[in-house]
Formats: sequence, C-alpha cells, structure tokens
Amino acid sequence: MLHPNLVSTIRQNLTRVQAQIDASARRAGRSPESVRLVVVTKTHPVETVRAAVEAGAAILGENYAEEAVAKMQALGRAAVEWHMIGHVQSRKAKLVAENFTMMHSLDSLKLARRLDNFAAEAGRVLPVLLEFNVGGEASKSGWQAGDESRWGALLPEIEEILSLGQLETRGLMTMPPLGEQAEASRTYFVRLRRLRDFLGRHFPKSTWDELSMGTSLDFTVAIEEGATLVRVGTSILGPRS
Ligand SMILES: *Cc1c(COP(=O)(O)O)cnc(C)c1O
Repeated sequence: MLHPNLVSTIRQNLTRVQAQIDASARRAGRSPESVRLVVVTKTHPVETVRAAVEAGAAILGENYAEEAVAKMQALGRAAVEWHMIGHVQSRKAKLVAENFTMMHSLDSLKLARRLDNFAAEAGRVLPVLLEFNVGGEASKSGWQAGDESRWGALLPEIEEILSLGQLETRGLMTMPPLGEQAEASRTYFVRLRRLRDFLGRHFPKSTWDELSMGTSLDFTVAIEEGATLVRVGTSILGPRS
C-alpha cells in the first residue's frame, strides 16, 4: 500500500521543482522542454520510489547498480527511465549495460570498453554521458578537466570511446565541488559547457547535446548555463537517511 500523503507530498514537490525549472529556462531564453528532470531516488526504499512514479516522476536516477536493479524488479518495469548517475565499478558494468536507459557517469576508458562489450552481448546500444571533474578535487570521479590548457590531452581517450559501437555518447556530466550556495557552482557549469563546445569542435560527427548538471542546491543556475538534465533528489523526496 502506498501512503497517500507520501504521493501527494512528492507530487507537490515535483510541481514546485518543475515550476522552478520552467522559470529558469525562460530566464535563460530556453524552452522549458529542453530540460529534463531526473528524480534521484538513491537509498530511498522501494515504497518511496513507487510513490514518486505515482506522483509523476518520469526519469529516476540511481547511484548503485544492484540497489537500482532490485527496485526495477519490484516496480515491474513501470514506464519510467532509469539513469545511472553514480560511479560504477568494473564488475557492475554488466548490470548497467543490461538495465539502464542512460549512463551519466562514464568516467574511464576501461569502463567504457566493458560497457560496450556487455551492451553488445545484450544486443543493445547504451546512451552515455562522459563525466568530468571540472573542480579539480582529488576525491571526485571523472576525467580531470579543471585546467582548460590541458583539455587537449583528453582527446585520444575520448576518440576511442566514440569509436565503441555499442555506446552512444550524447554529452557531458559533472558534479561540482559541494558549495553552500548555488552561485558557487556557476563557474563549474560554465566550464563543463565550454568543454562540451571544445569536444564538439574536435568531434563534430558525434552528438554533444546533453549537459547533465545541477542538483537540489544549484539546478536553477545549471539551467541558466545550459543543463539539459538536472538531477534532483532532496528537494523532491526529502533528506536521505
Ligand atoms: C545524490 C546525487 C544527486 C542528488 O542530490 P540532491 O542534493 O539530493 O538533489 C545528484 N547527482 C548525483 C551524482 C548524486 O549522487
């Protein structure tokens, strides 16, 4: 049984966040439809995820492959997209290649090759985003891209990823250093967009449309700087335990 209050609380939150998305897009002269909301359900129990779907969530973001696949099974393949947004260990590549609609957090050539192999075995093409660490923190995943003068060194690995037949690169993703205010993230979102433009110039035959950036803290700023996918958890589902 779903708790009716849970569904209505989530629905109100979704409506509020969607209104903020629409307003940010308009402020930036963009169409609100150019931004898609990924509702981040990681660590929330299945009942909460089910309530989110009931409330209208269309794309769910998860960080842990096994946890996500268990939820997919429990929800019986509801008509939602499942996006992987967390760091994926090599041994979880098969689960991701077989089960997710999109992978936001591709952060190494080695993982790309494994995903490509498993996607081939599963007979599917996996849409992926390349994750970059534009803030330069040592602890973060993603290719180091804080220093613009060294972007050229990224090109050979990216070229190889673009050549993998079962992966379809669609754009870039980042998780900026945790700040206290949304404005603090702007410089990182601008850097990711510039990196996207740089890669687009070097690899014009590939698609670079998607920019996955912005969380509860800073999604409005991310949209002003070009985000097409925002990943929002806490503002919709409340704090994680
Ligand atoms: C948890 C998480 C989010 C959501 O963060 P909130 O602050 O709850 O909105 C977004 N992106 C990634 C990569 C995450 O791990």
